[in-house]
Amino acid sequence: MGSDSASEVFGDGRPIVFRNGIVLPMNGSGVIEGGDVLVVGDRIADVGVDLAVPDGAVEIDASGGIVMPGMVDTHRHMWQTALRGYGADWTLTQYFVFFYLTWGKIFRPEDIHAGNVLSMIEALDAGVTTSLDWSHGLQTIEHGEAAADALRSMPARAVLAYGNLLGAPWEWSNGADFRNFVSRLSTSDMFGLQMAFDVTADPAFPEKGAFEAARELGLRVTTHAGVWGATNDDSIRLMWEHGFMTPQVTYVHAATLTEDSYQRIAATGGTASVSTESEQSAGQGYPPTWALRKHGIPVSLSMDTSVWWSADLFAAMRATLSADRSREHLEAHARGETVVHNLLRAEEVVQWATMGGARALGLDSVIGSLTPGKQADIVLIKNDESPAMSPIVHPYGSLVYQAGRGDVHTVLVNGKVVKHAHKLIGMDLAAAKAAVANTVDYARSTMGEDAWHESMHPELPTADRVPNPYTYTTYDGGEGRHTARAADAGPSASPQV
Ligand SMILES: [Zn+2]
Repeated sequence: MGSDSASEVFGDGRPIVFRNGIVLPMNGSGVIEGGDVLVVGDRIADVGVDLAVPDGAVEIDASGGIVMPGMVDTHRHMWQTALRGYGADWTLTQYFVFFYLTWGKIFRPEDIHAGNVLSMIEALDAGVTTSLDWSHGLQTIEHGEAAADALRSMPARAVLAYGNLLGAPWEWSNGADFRNFVSRLSTSDMFGLQMAFDVTADPAFPEKGAFEAARELGLRVTTHAGVWGATNDDSIRLMWEHGFMTPQVTYVHAATLTEDSYQRIAATGGTASVSTESEQSAGQGYPPTWALRKHGIPVSLSMDTSVWWSADLFAAMRATLSADRSREHLEAHARGETVVHNLLRAEEVVQWATMGGARALGLDSVIGSLTPGKQADIVLIKNDESPAMSPIVHPYGSLVYQAGRGDVHTVLVNGKVVKHAHKLIGMDLAAAKAAVANTVDYARSTMGEDAWHESMHPELPTADRVPNPYTYTTYDGGEGRHTARAADAGPSASPQV
């Protein structure tokens, strides 16, 4: 079925049944081989084997594939998708200089809109049905309106985490513009609102006013915590001492923190949003799941920003499992021990990408698992053309270490088919790309060619090579003999043969 006929077949609200797939409900009921998932209206009606379905139900052949809940990204700066890949070689300091100190102010409401739309399409295409837009480029309320309009224009579940990296959170959150914006906005399970700001560890704790605003407005808070050189244990302690550590707070990164801070987060019911590719590359600290697990802090996953990375939670799952195990091995080696059993399993990482995300957004009763009665956010991973998707003997392992976004076959959000047979439905990708191209042209011409190139390609420091005392041989395949060469700066070489 092609995408044109797909939109016709799925467009009339007929029930939909996924047939004969490997179903991962992610609600503790285990793997269902040869399983079906029935969707009626916007809800999951039934999950099981050989389900009886209503007359007229549309059947999607899930054989050879995995049916799972839609994935949830709990922290992404979607507006920055307009400069996708620009910061691939940045450190966190260079990111801060670019967006906070130098160029963040040039982004117009239409640029925020363009980045958000392309980011949402990218997320849906990759099986991410819910995204929290950590939107800290909202320097005016018009920027905020643009961000919200973009999110609501897409057939996805979204949370706008409102922020402004150019303003003080205790000021903008108490301003008339923001208060009016909040009162005008109608939120639902499809479109939520949070506040996004960081706590700098200023002993005067000016962020108190922002936390009070969030409490007054009934909004959850998401905050970059444990970021080397930016936020730290004092940030956590100040939140604790003023009574603002609650289950309504998500701690993004939560990397460079002490045991004491983890205990405070665990005791107050907060959640974490771990962006492993970001932490590994930008320098917030070691990806912390190995520590969070020990404290029972609920984990969710995120990709942070497409100015470096992507909306691909397969990449997040893979990086997170590998980083966690890497740390376990290194810690064991430091004790002279060998890890003989892995503590973290692929299944738990898939749990973090689904239910973990739902929980961190306060949506765990609505989405995150294939449970009858929940809203139907469902992804079919199936690619008959891929050698990597066969056999599927350990489905969680296949998701984490074998699958990629090219294997996302079908995506439902709230019972609506938004991708089928690898084709997006009802989204204008060409228009989204054109809008982003416009933003790239604007940013480049505003910055000027020199700044555009210098910011994208930061100075490369010199790295000294370690002197090597050894000599080594090279094999000359043509003449069949070994020749010896001296290593750089090494002692005098003697032939080895
Ligand atoms: Zn971030």
